[in-house]
Amino acid sequence: MPRPLILITNDDGYRAPGLLALREAVAPLGDVVVIAPDRERSACGQGITIKGPLTVEKIDETTFAVDGTPADCVILALANLLSTKPAVVLSGINRGANLGDDVYYSGTVGGAREAAFWGLPAAACSLVTRGKPLDFAEAAKHSRRVCEILLTAPPPEGVLLNLNVPDGPESDIKGVKVTRQGMRGHASGVSLTKDSRGRTFYWIAEPFDKWDAADGDDMGAIRAGYVSITPLGKDTTSNRDIDSLARRLAGKS
Ligand code: MN
Repeated sequence: MPRPLILITNDDGYRAPGLLALREAVAPLGDVVVIAPDRERSACGQGITIKGPLTVEKIDETTFAVDGTPADCVILALANLLSTKPAVVLSGINRGANLGDDVYYSGTVGGAREAAFWGLPAAACSLVTRGKPLDFAEAAKHSRRVCEILLTAPPPEGVLLNLNVPDGPESDIKGVKVTRQGMRGHASGVSLTKDSRGRTFYWIAEPFDKWDAADGDDMGAIRAGYVSITPLGKDTTSNRDIDSLARRLAGKS
C-alpha cells in the first residue's frame, strides 16, 4: 500500500519552528509535502489572493514557499502543485492559541478550513503560548495523534479539527477533551503612535484576555490544563434564530 500523502501548511511561514516540529512528528505516518507562506501571515483568516498573481519558490523536493496566504497555499497545492490528492491536510503548529472567536481571524484555521472545503480531512494545530522559549514537543505529539485519527477515522466531509495544546511538559497536561468552540467578548484595542513627521499610526492590538470560558468549551479545557480538540463545521447559521426572524419579517413579531 502506498504511503499516504500529508500536506502541511501554516500561517507563520515555511521556516517556522512549529511547522518543522509538525513535519518531523508526522513523517513516520506518510510522505510529507510542505506548501506554506514564504513569511508570516498570521490573522489572515481564510483570505485568498485574487487581485494579483502568486509565485511559488521550490525550496527543496518537498518544500514550497508561496507569497500568499495559507488558503492560497492549499488551493495551489490541490489545484496544481500536487499530482496526488493528499490524504490529510495539517496547518500549524501555530505559535499561539486559536480558540473561540479567533478561529475566524486565524490563518492557521483558515488553511485547514480551505482543505475541508475541498473535502479533505484537515486539522489546525496550535500551541497555547505567548512567551518564550517555545517548546513544540507536546503539541507535536498531539498533532501526530490527530493526524492518525484523520488517516484512519476522519470526521464527515467538511468538518475540520481544531487542536490547541497547552504550553508545558507532559506532566502538566491533564488529558484531552473534545470541546465546542468558545466565546470571547471581543475587545481589540487600538493603540496610537506618531512618527517624526507627526503622522499617526493605528495599531490593532491583541484582544484583551476577556474570555467567557465555560464548561465544555475550548478555552475552558485549556484553562483547566487539558488539550482541546474542537470539530468545526462550515455552516455558521444560527439555526435557533431562523423561525423568529421569519416571523418578524412576516410582521407577526
Ligand atoms: Mn500564526
